Amino acid sequence: MIAASTKTDPLADVDIIIVGAGFSGIGMGVRLKEQRTDSFVILERADSLGGSWRDNTYPGVACDVPSPLYSFSFQTNPEWSRLFAPGQEIWQYLQKVADDATLGEHLRFGAEMSSAVWDGDSERWVVTTTAGTFTGRYLISAMGHLTDPKLPDIPGIGEFSGTVMHSARWNPDVDLDGKRVGVVGTGASAIQVVPSIASKVEHLVLFQRTAPYIVARQDFEFTEVQKKQFRRDPDAISELRQSIFWLGEYSFAARRLVPAYLEEARREALSHMQSQIEDPLLRDLLTPDYEIGCKRILRSDDFYPTLTRDNVTLEPSALARVDSGRAVSSAGRGFDLDVLILATGFETWDLPSSYLIHGRNGETLAEHWSSGMQAYNSTTVHGFPNLFLLNGPATSLGHNSLIFMIEAQIDYVLGALRWADASRRAIVEVEESAEGRYADLLHAQAQETALLRGGCDSWYLDPRNGKATLSWPNFAHSFRDQCATFDPAPYADQAVELGA
Ligand SMILES: Cc1cc2nc3c(=O)[nH]c(=O)nc-3n(C[C@H](O)[C@H](O)[C@H](O)COP(=O)(O)OP(=O)(O)OC[C@H]3O[C@@H](n4cnc5c(N)ncnc54)[C@H](O)[C@@H]3O)c2cc1C
Repeated sequence: MIAASTKTDPLADVDIIIVGAGFSGIGMGVRLKEQRTDSFVILERADSLGGSWRDNTYPGVACDVPSPLYSFSFQTNPEWSRLFAPGQEIWQYLQKVADDATLGEHLRFGAEMSSAVWDGDSERWVVTTTAGTFTGRYLISAMGHLTDPKLPDIPGIGEFSGTVMHSARWNPDVDLDGKRVGVVGTGASAIQVVPSIASKVEHLVLFQRTAPYIVARQDFEFTEVQKKQFRRDPDAISELRQSIFWLGEYSFAARRLVPAYLEEARREALSHMQSQIEDPLLRDLLTPDYEIGCKRILRSDDFYPTLTRDNVTLEPSALARVDSGRAVSSAGRGFDLDVLILATGFETWDLPSSYLIHGRNGETLAEHWSSGMQAYNSTTVHGFPNLFLLNGPATSLGHNSLIFMIEAQIDYVLGALRWADASRRAIVEVEESAEGRYADLLHAQAQETALLRGGCDSWYLDPRNGKATLSWPNFAHSFRDQCATFDPAPYADQAVELGA
C-alpha cells in the first residue's frame, strides 16, 4: 500500500521506520547504520532535523546540562564554545552528527505522521504521513515529550489585542523594543527568556504561580587551549563527561530525600537567591513553598538580578484572564501589555503522538494509557508489537543528561532487533504482566522521592493518577543497568517465529 508520493521512494517499504529527527531519531539512525542495516527511514514533520533545538529559538535558549555531557558518547565534541552551549550550537552539533553518518538519504522532511497502524496480516506497521505512506517491520517512535507546546486555557487570551507567542514557537519578527511584555511561567525557558529581553522592553511583568529553586549556573567559555587539548586527546573529553555525569548523580541523593543532601541542596539554592536579592519582600516571594527536587531545579546567574530592575515586575500569582489588552492575575492585579510570552511548557503526560499509534486491536496508545502512560523498560508496550518508544514514559530526568537515557534505550532496541533476527522471530511484544510490574516498581521508587513527596504540582505528574509517569525515579546509571541490555524473558512467549 504505497501512496502516490512515495511510489518511487526507495524507502517507502523498509525494515525500520523511525518517526522524529531529534536526538532520539538521529542517534537511532546513526547506530542502526553502523551496526545493522540501511533499510530504515526517518520521518520528520518539520523541514529540518533537530527537535527541541530546532524549535526553541527564544532569546537565551541554552542547555542546562553541561554540553560535554549533553552530547552523544559516540561523537564527543571538542568545539563547544562554552560549558552550557546555546541552543543554536546544539542544533548545529546534531546536524553534524547526521552529516558525518551520511544520514541524509534516510531522512524525509515534511513527513508528518498522522497515523501508524499495525497490520497483523502482513506483520508490518503502516505509517501514513503528509509525504505519503510508509511500511516497515518495526516502528520506532522518537517524537519526544517536550515537543508540543502546552497552551494554557486562559479566558480571553484568544481576543488579546497584542501578540501572543509560546517560547517554543518564537517569532523573531515580533519586535520587543520598547514594548510592554508579559511572561507567563517560571520554568526553565522563562528564566532564560526574562534576562535576555528585559533590557530592551519598556516594561516586563513576570507571572509567577510558583517560585522555582535556582542554583548558580557557573557557565564559562572554553579557551582555545582547552579546545586544542580536547581535539588532541578525546580521552580528556571522556574524563570531563564522567566527572559531570557523577556530579549529576550525586545531586540525585537530595531528590531521594536523604536529609543531609536535601539540606545541602536547599541551602545552595536559597543562599544563591539571598546573595542576589536584598529586598526581604522580594526574597519572600521568591522562596519556594515546596521541597527542593519536586520540580526541576533551574540554573541561572542573571535571573534574580533581572528581577531587581526598575522595568521588571514580579507578579506573584498566575495569569488568570485577559481583557483585550489587559492581562489580569489571579490576585486581581491588571497590566496593560503589547506582547504575551507563554513559557508554559509542553504536553507531557498526554502525548499527542500517543493518539496516532494503533496497536494489535486497533486501540491507540492514548487509549491504552487512558489511566496513565507506561512501557516496559520505558520502551515497549503490550498490544503494540514491534514498537519501540524512545524518550517516552519514565525517561525524563531532572538531574542528568537525557542523551544518556536515549543512548541506553538505543542499545536496548538494537539488542531486541538482534534477538529477533537470531531467533527468527517476527514479533517482539512484551507480556502485559511484565509491563505492569515494571510500572508498579517505578511508582514505588517515585514514592521515595521529592517528585511525589515534595508537595508540588509539576509537569512530571499525571493528574489522572497522581503518578510521575514521565520521570525516571532513580539515578541515571541505574536506568542503564535496568534498561540498556535486552533480556528476552518477558518477550519469548509472545513471539511468533518467522514463516510460522
Ligand atoms: C528548551 C529546552 C531545553 C532543554 N534542555 C535540556 C537540557 O539541558 N538537558 C537535557 O537533558 N534535556 C534538555 N531538554 C530536553 C530535550 O527535549 C531532550 O534532551 C532531547 O532533545 C529530546 O530529543 P528527542 O529526539 O527525544 O525529542 P525532540 O527533540 O522533541 O524531537 C522530536 C521530533 O519528532 C518530531 N515529530 C513529533 N511528532 C511528529 C509527527 N507526528 N510526525 C513526524 N515528526 C514528528 C518533532 O518535529 C521533533 O523534531 C530540553 C528541552 C527543551 C525544550
